[in-house]
Order: sequence, then C-alpha cells, then structure tokens
Amino acid sequence: KSFADLHLSRPLLRACQALGYTHPTPIQAACIPLALAGRDICGSAVTGSGKTAAFGLPLLERLLHRNKRVAATYVLVLTPVRELALQVHSMIQKLAQFTDIRAALVVGGLSLQAQAATLREQPEVVVATPGRMIDHLRNTQSVGLEDLAVLVLDEADRLLEMGFAEEIKEVVRMAPVRRQTMLFSATMTEEVKKLVSLSLKNPVRLAA
Ligand code: AMP
Repeated sequence: KSFADLHLSRPLLRACQALGYTHPTPIQAACIPLALAGRDICGSAVTGSGKTAAFGLPLLERLLHRNKRVAATYVLVLTPVRELALQVHSMIQKLAQFTDIRAALVVGGLSLQAQAATLREQPEVVVATPGRMIDHLRNTQSVGLEDLAVLVLDEADRLLEMGFAEEIKEVVRMAPVRRQTMLFSATMTEEVKKLVSLSLKNPVRLAA
C-alpha cells in the first residue's frame, strides 16, 4: 500500500512526499482509513511508530473538507509534556505545509496573552498541554470547545501519570458529544481503559 491508496488529498500527499515518506507505517495504514471514516480510535502505539501522522493526516483531511462559512471547526491534540507538544505541532505544520490550515501551540512557559491572541484567530488545530489549555478555557476565554470536531489524546498513559485526569475529564465533559476522538497510548493500564470508556464511542482498537 502507498499513501496514494489511502484517499488523501493532493496537498497532504505532496507533504508526505516532501517529508520523504514513501509507504505508510503499519499504524498509519490501519488508522488512516478508519479515522477518515469517522471512527473513534484506540491505538496502542509508541513514539517512533509514525503515530503522529497516523492521526495528523486524517484530521487534516477532515479540516480540508470543512465548511468555512459555518462556525469554525477545530481539532484539539492534548499531549502530556511541552516537548512532545512541540514535536507534534512541528509535525502537523509540516504535514499541513501545502494547505491553509493553521496549527497553534499552547503550552506553559510562553506568554498567556500572546497565546490568547493566537487562539482568538481561530486556528484549525490546537496542540496543547492540558494545564495550559484549561487555563485558556477558564480564564482567558479566548477559545471554547463548542466547535471541537476531533479530540486527540496522545500518550494517554503519560497524560494520566502526569496527573491530568481531571483536566481531561473537564475537556471531555465540555466537548460536543458529536465529535471524533482518537486516543493513543504505549500501555493500556486500568486507568487508560477507564479513560477509553469515558471518552471514546465504540472505538476501533489498533496495535502498532
Ligand atoms: P512518531 O512515531 O509519530 O513520533 O514518528 C517517528 C518518526 O517517523 C518521525 O521522525 C516521522 O517523521 C517518521 N515517519 C512517520 N511516518 C513515516 C513514514 N510513513 N515513512 C517514513 N518515516 C515516517
């Protein structure tokens, strides 16, 4: 299978080519068609498996088909730590380089007000750590969750280890019921399984 067999639009295929990706990794080949079909995904995947593009490509494809005349559509990717958020943000920007889709980075250590201004411009993708995202949702009110189309929980086991269970539950409670959710985790602990049943609807389970 090649990327062209996965029904991705030209700007995304061009980006894969520019990145030197010739063939999808196993998690990409499994995840991309199901995610494009709108399914919730529960993926056991470690860093290095190509999981970022496995969720990044289908969420960008979905955004390419958004109706710009109706309310802003956006995707939120929650990651446990700042370094991972930076990597995911950079990867999504590379995958989106031939599109008009904007990705914002929302992590601690950067100015809250500058981030709030960026969020008010309604970027289509927000890559965030949970603490800083909640800070914006509660305090700067520069972003809401009404228009959230896709929620990605990346490295769910680490998100829980870092003590973000309450923050994630708050996001899940506020997000629209009609949304797509993709969760990735290196390990499937009891805590992760609880989060899966709380946040995913009839998920497809994939292992890389
Ligand atoms: P990840 O597991 O998402 O952290 O990705 C690990 C590394 O694999 C990153 O450097 C990606 O750029 C690279 N990568 C992802 N997908 C592919 C692919 N289909 N072909 C070659 N490299 C890839």
